[in-house]
Amino acid sequence: MAFKLFKNGDDLHENGDELIKRGEWQKARNVLQKSVDKDGGDDSLALVKIALIDLMGQLNNPGAYRNVASKAKSIENRGTVDFGITTINLSELITECEVTAKKLDVLNSGSKGKEKSDALQAVATEMEDKIGQKPFIIRQMFANDSTTTGETEFYNLMALSYEVLADEEVWNNPQKAAEYQQIAMGYRQQNGQTGEENMKRIKQYSCTSKCWMCGRISTGEGIHFFQTPADVSEALNSTNDGNLKSAPDNGHIYICRACYTAVSRRADEISTGYYNRAIGEIRSAEARLQAEIAGLQAQITSLRLTVR
Ligand SMILES: [Zn+2]
Repeated sequence: MAFKLFKNGDDLHENGDELIKRGEWQKARNVLQKSVDKDGGDDSLALVKIALIDLMGQLNNPGAYRNVASKAKSIENRGTVDFGITTINLSELITECEVTAKKLDVLNSGSKGKEKSDALQAVATEMEDKIGQKPFIIRQMFANDSTTTGETEFYNLMALSYEVLADEEVWNNPQKAAEYQQIAMGYRQQNGQTGEENMKRIKQYSCTSKCWMCGRISTGEGIHFFQTPADVSEALNSTNDGNLKSAPDNGHIYICRACYTAVSRRADEISTGYYNRAIGEIRSAEARLQAEIAGLQAQITSLRLTVR
């Protein structure tokens, strides 16, 4: 057998496959790229493998998934591709990459409220219809995760879609927001999660309080009213009309958002005033000292001249 000094595209491709099996991804990528640049070898196949290696380090980048999908489409009629020790079904890979890219687009988009919620539900349905109970090929290969399936993604995205609605609705209608959190919690629980975070919000959103300052009644703790530290004496606590809530330790009261922001903004203004005044005084003291130092320096110079 003749010794080959220069490897052709086919040899390089074979070499790339070996490196993939060994997990030497970057070397594999370089060799596969060389096989594409040289004559011979199966360029379309090498490009799919390169796209997969590129995706590995950027599982949150929709563009990297679309790149795999578009390269895989060019050889879809072959049915499967061997990548390391895994045999990948090409049409499943394409579907998965396209749906995942869509999901990431929706998650990264600046849309809010109903628009975002509808988009999340559309992707959720696609996940369930197109991937179903199958685990994600990419997550299995690159994230060592075989528990995420089309169905678990469906539940997750449906939960998220209702949480998005709740986040928007809570400003106008905390009760409605609590209902959305309830639905979200149902989806999370169907997915084996506790839904603890949803429960916490349901409690907050359903909680009603009378403001200690203005007497207004509001619903939605942390949104429309806040807990704030205060010294509530026993006498104050015992003479309130029963509607005013305070912590068992009498260490704080509840006030509405309007009172809370009015007090904290006024406090900010006052402290900014003090800060500016203090800084002004420091600056003028600094200027006085600089002038004195300059005067002393001049005296030292003239003394030196006299001594010489
Ligand atoms: Zn108030």
